[in-house]
Amino acid sequence: MSTNKFVDTREGIFVTKPSLPPLDEYVEYLRRIWDKGILTNMGPLHEEFREKLNDFLGVEICLPSCNGHMGLELTIQAFELKGEIITTPYTFASTTHAIVRNGCTPVFCDIREEDCTMDTEKIEELITDKTVAIVPVHVYGLPCNVEEIERIAQKHGLKVIYDAAHAFGVRIGEKGIAAYGDASMFSFHATKAFNTIEGGCVALSDAKRAMRLYQLENFGIMGEEQVSFTGANAKMNEFEAAMGLCNLKHFAENIEKRKKVYEHYSNRLSKLDGVRMLTPYRSDIIRNYSYCPIFIDKNICGMGRDDLYTYLAAHNIYSRKYFYPLTSQFECYKDVDFRGYTPVAEKMSGQVLTLPMYADLELEKVDCICDLIIDFLK
Ligand SMILES: *Cc1c(COP(=O)(O)O)cnc(C)c1O
Repeated sequence: MSTNKFVDTREGIFVTKPSLPPLDEYVEYLRRIWDKGILTNMGPLHEEFREKLNDFLGVEICLPSCNGHMGLELTIQAFELKGEIITTPYTFASTTHAIVRNGCTPVFCDIREEDCTMDTEKIEELITDKTVAIVPVHVYGLPCNVEEIERIAQKHGLKVIYDAAHAFGVRIGEKGIAAYGDASMFSFHATKAFNTIEGGCVALSDAKRAMRLYQLENFGIMGEEQVSFTGANAKMNEFEAAMGLCNLKHFAENIEKRKKVYEHYSNRLSKLDGVRMLTPYRSDIIRNYSYCPIFIDKNICGMGRDDLYTYLAAHNIYSRKYFYPLTSQFECYKDVDFRGYTPVAEKMSGQVLTLPMYADLELEKVDCICDLIIDFLK
């Protein structure tokens, strides 16, 4: 139970809650699915959603997929990458797995304390004659230093594929985030700021690679009697596309609500001793407020992240240690000797707690969570 008698947290406050459109809007699309009788395989709603996505992201080509992970994994395959790929371990399992499952070797670059994205000053020392690409992550929707990454990639002839899973709707100045790199993967998982239940998309500029990705997402099938590539099945179905069409209409409004939630947390927590929040690398970034991470310095607070996590859970508030552990520390990689020294990533991973964050989170509940945190750290 909470210390604030006006807020009842007995049912629990979870780290996220999926955005759902008004049910009747979704039902309208279901009617269209029933009328046509097409459930998947690039049906009419898939095509409508794809066009809306292109407009929204401001790109020429963008391919929806069954989830973000398959989009990323098959994009690496579509670029025919073989060798070492520079990435960061401060991410979700998907990023590192996508590289390894393509037979490539991840090389881990450290991150910046300010925003947890790849530290571009540490990229070049990791480049060898085996390096083929950089796969950076726009962590929590905060953009990487895209200008520096582009400069380094061009200088060394490397491809850049962004894990933009968190960054749907993010802009750098005038430009949408998908304008950078050779490709960007977005995730539309239920827990993300924008969802299609499960789903994702890849924006990419090279039409030939896009065609290959399109084929790889459908078993590598070229024609009824011709299968040219060892592809997978990563198609987005009509029900997911319908969800995307509905949620896209409410996206801007949802981000405004998220912004209010984030700013409320920030006003109350960011100035506490030993608590830190992140800052984007440029001042003209339009954020999507995907997550609300805070970083607890045990040396200053006396209490650490794990203590706070347990304390909040005891009050039915369920935060997440996102991202902990680092992907390089996963059990499945325990016998692999990865190259790369990442002390900052390790430190941030030990301090991070992502707080409940979703469009409909009431500000009273945010206050209640902040009260608990402030009391606890006192
Ligand atoms: C969610 C996520 C993915 C994978 O997306 P799915 O749609 O769940 O497959 C990849 N990378 C990061 C950083 C993510 O958070």
